[in-house]
Amino acid sequence: MSSESSDLFGEIFKAPALSRTVPVMVPLPAPSAYSYAVPEGMAVEAGSLVQVPLGPRQVIGVVWDGEGDGVDPKKLRPISHVFDCPPLTKEMRSFIEWVASYTLSPPGLVARMALRAPNAFEPEPMIEGLQFVGGFPDRMTPARGRVLEAASSAPSWTRTGLAHAAGVSPSVVDGLIAQGIFETIFLPPPPVVAKPDPDYAAPRLEGPQTSAAAELREEIAKGGFCVSLIDGVTGSGKTEVYFEAIAETLRRGKQVLILLPEIALTAGFLSRFEARFGSKPAEWHSDLAPRMREKVWRQAVMGEVRVVAGARSALFLPFEDLGLIVVDEEHDPAYKQEDRIFYNARDMAVVRARIGQFPVVLVSATPSVESRVNGQSGRYRTVHLPTRFGDAALPDLHLLDMRRHPPERGGFLSPLLVREIGRTKEKGEQSLLFLNRRGYAPLTLCRVCGHRFQCPQCSSWLVEHRFRQQIQCHQCGYSQPTPEACPECGTLDHLVACGPGVERIAEEVERHFPEARTIVLSSDITGGVKRLRMELDAIAEGQADIVIGTQLVAKGHNFPLMTLVGIIDADLGLANGDPRAAERTFQLLSQVTGRAGRTGLKSRGLIQTYQPQHPVMQAIVSGDVEAFYEREVVERERAHLPPFGRLASIIVSAETRQDAEGYARAMRANAPHASGIDLLGPAEAPLALVRGRYRFRLLVHARRHCDMQAFLRKLMESAPKIRGTLHVQVDVDPQSFL
Ligand code: ADP
Ligand code: ZN
Repeated sequence: MSSESSDLFGEIFKAPALSRTVPVMVPLPAPSAYSYAVPEGMAVEAGSLVQVPLGPRQVIGVVWDGEGDGVDPKKLRPISHVFDCPPLTKEMRSFIEWVASYTLSPPGLVARMALRAPNAFEPEPMIEGLQFVGGFPDRMTPARGRVLEAASSAPSWTRTGLAHAAGVSPSVVDGLIAQGIFETIFLPPPPVVAKPDPDYAAPRLEGPQTSAAAELREEIAKGGFCVSLIDGVTGSGKTEVYFEAIAETLRRGKQVLILLPEIALTAGFLSRFEARFGSKPAEWHSDLAPRMREKVWRQAVMGEVRVVAGARSALFLPFEDLGLIVVDEEHDPAYKQEDRIFYNARDMAVVRARIGQFPVVLVSATPSVESRVNGQSGRYRTVHLPTRFGDAALPDLHLLDMRRHPPERGGFLSPLLVREIGRTKEKGEQSLLFLNRRGYAPLTLCRVCGHRFQCPQCSSWLVEHRFRQQIQCHQCGYSQPTPEACPECGTLDHLVACGPGVERIAEEVERHFPEARTIVLSSDITGGVKRLRMELDAIAEGQADIVIGTQLVAKGHNFPLMTLVGIIDADLGLANGDPRAAERTFQLLSQVTGRAGRTGLKSRGLIQTYQPQHPVMQAIVSGDVEAFYEREVVERERAHLPPFGRLASIIVSAETRQDAEGYARAMRANAPHASGIDLLGPAEAPLALVRGRYRFRLLVHARRHCDMQAFLRKLMESAPKIRGTLHVQVDVDPQSFL
């Protein structure tokens, strides 16, 4: 090799000059950002999305705030690439840090939630299009004439788009291209959804809706951070009202995020939005195809998508200029993520709005006690919608005392409920039977020896699914074919199902009404979300007489012919040791019974209970919602429970019981002292065994103004080093106490 060429190679492969260092947040469970060198000539700023070497790999990352750590840039590895993407805003970076600090999570893992579409960090490729050049074809045909006419309505077209608009086959367009009438150009990729028009089809608001919408518009016009709570009965027009807040935000040129608890099931919501704004919002949830996900992410960052309707994870989308978040069904437990990063999207939406200095609107027919209290104290502005829209009346609700009207032997439906279902069917209307339990029976036992079927890896019973001929664990998904003989005593055909699930209720319904069209809906449905949407549409179109379902059917659907709701077991959620048990039951029962009578037909709700005197049952039938909330608030305040105090749960799990318990005890023994903060436990968690891991729980109970996070941090620091298979999970503001 000549000396010249070796010089040339030396020049090409010379290490780039390194000018300075910057911190880069990588999507890993590291406690903070790592430092990298910036090659000479590379332009990065805080927020830039980059690729960096990490060990043997290349990973994505975000240039973070602050200077490098003073290390000589030459000693650091350089950033390998800067993506052609707008940087994460200061607002977004602060939000990520805030969430990390509040939930005691590594900031890199929180950042990862904002970077869920790495393939969208580079611009979308241009697509081929056509432009009218001028001139006339050699031979004019009617088809060609239609193409030329259609083309004149827009400056550029795609080949198939133009053919479609002209109602001709693409070959006609090809003929015109060949003659030079059109030329090929490159166009930016089309938006995933057209821009919504705030004035497309504004409704005529009525009564309290008018002032409610005016109040929200006023808040939005004022700008800045504020929280409004729309508290209105089911069917009162809450959606119509917050649509006006969205319209106002769009008029001001800002983007909007709508959070929904069960986005995959809300096809109805999307069409409604389209009817109001002339186009659908972009969707964001886990069922989105990857390609679509990337497009929505990119277009939200670029500001092309103006409105996103999404599940809780949409809260971490890096919008270009977000100006409003709406949290529909703000009380819904689905907003709490309990996996890796434990956060409540409702609460974090308020935080994001505060950091970004824009309004947030919380919406519910049964607000959380937390939001009600914030409304009463004036921190949130409450907007009331006390009556249903139009001539729709709320259903007439009755308790069925199951001690006085017991079901037939082996059944679960009171004769009064059965009679009502029959009458409803005769009128050509629909009934909904609600039971929040999947499968056929929650417990199977052997009549001879008493053996109960339990999951081999969890402390939970195996649930019979008769349709699939399986018994399953609802904790870990373990399943086995339903056995014919008892594994303990070997007796054949003496296994009995205890208690009902939706499948068993369906069996009972079929016994009473063999000719009725019955649909069972739960997350066990085969065919996924698509099938579920089809079934829900079928019900809305009146293609079923009796629907038996879990909470999947309780959320947000409009079934015009549904005039009877039967609650099979209203007591189900009351006895689980959860401080929110009464609130949750009240919310769920209100929501389910609220499915009835949404279009003006007279409707009823029958609630089967063994505790008709319970405050929740009384609140539901008396309609005295205020009294119920007042009592809850007083109880919570007395016990310093949220929102008057704060909770965190710490779950220690390990492969042996001894390891888990030992570590939890050591944690407790080394715990720091803080006034106003109690550390309770450790105790075996109610679900003591999950997927073969033993679990112990410590509970932190803090007075309202204590710095619980500081305490938790010290607690973690002073605990012994985590070894082996041990895992410690902190859950701030826990929703689940299992
Ligand atoms: P909510 O969100 O409180 O359950 P919705 O906004 O879904 O209530 O309203 C219930 C029903 O009443 C819907 O079908 C809705 O289209 C209709 N509705 C409510 N307000 C109006 C209005 N001002 N004009 C026309 N229809 C309305
Ligand atoms: Zn299990």
